[in-house]
Amino acid sequence: MSQILLRSINKSYDGATQVLHDVSMEIEDGEFIVIVGPSGCGKSTLLRLIAGLEACQDGEIVIAGQRANEQLPQHRDIAMIFQNYALYPHLTVRENIAFGLELRKVPKRERNQRALEVARTLQLEPYLDRKPGALSGGQRQRVAMGRAIARNTSTFLMDEPLSNLDNALRVAMRTEIKALHRQLGATIIYVTHDQTEALSLADRIAVMKGGYLQQFDTPEAIYDRPANQFVASFLGMPPMNFLPVDKVPFWQGELGIEIGLRPEALSINRDGSGMSSLPGRIVLSEMTGSDVILHCETEAGRLTLIEERNRLSGGSGDVLIHVDLDRAHFFHGDSGARLDLA
Ligand code: ADP
Repeated sequence: MSQILLRSINKSYDGATQVLHDVSMEIEDGEFIVIVGPSGCGKSTLLRLIAGLEACQDGEIVIAGQRANEQLPQHRDIAMIFQNYALYPHLTVRENIAFGLELRKVPKRERNQRALEVARTLQLEPYLDRKPGALSGGQRQRVAMGRAIARNTSTFLMDEPLSNLDNALRVAMRTEIKALHRQLGATIIYVTHDQTEALSLADRIAVMKGGYLQQFDTPEAIYDRPANQFVASFLGMPPMNFLPVDKVPFWQGELGIEIGLRPEALSINRDGSGMSSLPGRIVLSEMTGSDVILHCETEAGRLTLIEERNRLSGGSGDVLIHVDLDRAHFFHGDSGARLDLA
């Protein structure tokens, strides 16, 4: 049985502007789902609906086989972790973690025992008697998670939980959240606008735009077979390149479509062989470590590709860019929908 079912959810805050359009999703027990999309596309609204903090106009939310639309948040067996994790500064880590249990009248001994277990899981045991002021940003974030975990719920909703952390900490916490998911076996629904977070964390990604669900699939499927041009451009870094086929001199197929080329479908053609090449000029190169990101101008448009640093002779100049058509994506010129050309 799927754990959370969203059936044709429509939501408007003011009765005039619709924020979610017919969103349907089936989330299995224990899955790590990431909802991703640009700011304002309705991610948080969707999460708040699942939590019971907002109501929808029509559609149905089913949790563990039961219609949940009318269920109060506290009856949903769901814990929510927000971006601005509010810890109580005058309480210790132990008391912060156990806080929700105290509200639920769990006896003190049991509360302390549970706080200790959770602190062990999150590697916070050495800090149990400290107050939040004496913790690092990452430790504070872990305490906030600890408070949610202590409640023993089966589902965690996380709304951009890492967005207030600096980059190094964000990367470290990402690994921790992934490990935690494995350890708890809980369902996690995680909202972010960061495509890297989505690709690295999710079992399945829900890509949203303007209140519409664009695609709901595994990171691999979304990367390899994006449903439309928006999904293709939103996931992947550097982003996919797009060229109108009409401007690609060696193109011999159907016209009126866009060709999508991820950087890995492009390479510098050194020996001048092969048919599918475009002359271009390197206008900018960015060193990333072992690789260099090359931005090239061609007559068909701008192309970004990645080359190994030690294979490059110079940083700029005229080049021939080889296009691997077997790895190209095609999209309808008007609608942007994916086309599978034979
Ligand atoms: P996201 O999380 O993707 O940034 P939100 O779900 O927060 O998007 O917002 C989606 C849309 O709903 C936005 O246009 C936003 O302005 C609007 N919105 C969000 N919350 C409210 C609210 N409480 N009242 C009215 N409009 C809201």
